[in-house]
Amino acid sequence: MQRVLVANRGEIAVRIFRACRELGLTSIAVYPPVDQGAPHLDFADEVFELNTRKGYLDRAAILETAKEAKADAIHPGYGFLAENADFARECQEAGLIFVGPPADAIEAMGIKTTARRLMEEAGVPVVPGCPVLADAEEAKEWANRIGYPVLCKASAGGGGRGIRTARNEVELVDLFSEAKEEAELAFGSGDVYLEKYLVNPRHVEIQVLADDHGNVIHLGERECSIQRRRQKLIEESPSVVVDESLRQRMGEAAVRAAEAVGYRNAGTVECLLDADRNFYFLEMNTRIQVEHPITEMTTGVDLVKEQLRIAQGKPISIAQEDVAWTGWAFEFRINAEDPDRDFRPTPGKVTGLRVPNGPWTRVDTAMVEGSMVSPFFDSLMGKLVVWGRDRDEAIARSKRALSEFSIAGVKSTIPVMLKVLDTEEFRTGAFDVDFLERWLAKQG
Ligand code: ADP
Ligand code: ADP
Ligand code: MG
Repeated sequence: MQRVLVANRGEIAVRIFRACRELGLTSIAVYPPVDQGAPHLDFADEVFELNTRKGYLDRAAILETAKEAKADAIHPGYGFLAENADFARECQEAGLIFVGPPADAIEAMGIKTTARRLMEEAGVPVVPGCPVLADAEEAKEWANRIGYPVLCKASAGGGGRGIRTARNEVELVDLFSEAKEEAELAFGSGDVYLEKYLVNPRHVEIQVLADDHGNVIHLGERECSIQRRRQKLIEESPSVVVDESLRQRMGEAAVRAAEAVGYRNAGTVECLLDADRNFYFLEMNTRIQVEHPITEMTTGVDLVKEQLRIAQGKPISIAQEDVAWTGWAFEFRINAEDPDRDFRPTPGKVTGLRVPNGPWTRVDTAMVEGSMVSPFFDSLMGKLVVWGRDRDEAIARSKRALSEFSIAGVKSTIPVMLKVLDTEEFRTGAFDVDFLERWLAKQG
């Protein structure tokens, strides 16, 4: 494996190019015509245009370009084709290494209801819920058993979409057929099911790595409870509510989860924690995640390099007993959105840019002054990642770095993040997945 094509754009493409360069691999960037001149292209060794009108989701165009570019491997990043089992299979059939898990593992974890069943069989606690529902009648029966409120979720859902709440039977019947239709449209499958709506849970997830030599390890937790519309905005590692014993129990469960589906490469087991710190499996993301850098900061393990090494057939470079966690890290997602206008996307030209740096301050972005934020792709412009010896130091450093960050031409999430950092709840860590929405509602 010498030549790695990255089927992605933006900050994650740049992140992968960097890992390739450090490993002495040739990086290949691609772009569909609609993304001509995109800033990530400047960071790769070679650049190829995709012959497509469908963008980064055109599997045939990407495979064709991989052939033309003489690539040995394809790294999908996150989003786009990262969790597409057909694509992983097609790569293999074309003689290309897919830098990710085997297609079967993607498939097993890609459908939430299948994943939940497999996890129960593997002895991993799952959020109480039910299998795929045939009709509204069955939904009513299950909801009575589970107890209201319930969440109706699309089995194939993701990205915080396709999740609805029902507080009672009337609401459930009302939303049921709409939820099915929407799921069919958005995810290509109308399958929906119910989960118990946990009250004020925290989102805590475990990073795992697995190689071809039978090693499966975990790298501890990330807390991702600061969310808006069920999408993460600020993440931290470790979590204020996870102690050594819980970390070990969650870590072992995550390793069991990975083993149960024959997992390889990097993956994340997402869990919810209730008020008594019981944890429940939510889903597994079978790819590198947006928030992976906070784990890198606290463990010193370069997760993208590990992904590439594992794809080359090498063993994970660290053993479980050697994984040690130091200090505290935060990540802030810098989105091109206007917090004063309901986080409406604000594409356009970045006319001015000052990126923070200084001690223990990392910014992952493709953006430079003059870059265009495209209206056709998601609004993540970059990520600020900060490390401190303890949580208080990391918070102070985050405020310092966020206040240095200035972006002209498009609105960003920076001002609202600075305000969140000043709340009592954030400062003390006393928050849950609904905190940010409650707080935003109060701001008017
Ligand atoms: P992470 O858990 O890595 O933070 P996110 O849930 O924020 O992941 O998703 C990362 C990217 O992938 C986002 O751009 C999100 O919109 C996209 N994404 C995730 N799952 C899906 C899906 N099933 N369908 C479409 N886009 C998805
Ligand atoms: P996605 O695939 O879209 O990422 P997830 O199942 O991972 O969906 O859930 C996304 C978020 O929705 C969680 O982080 C949490 O905030 C909320 N959520 C999901 N399931 C539940 C639940 N059963 N009870 C309460 N909140 C939930
Ligand atoms: Mg999720």
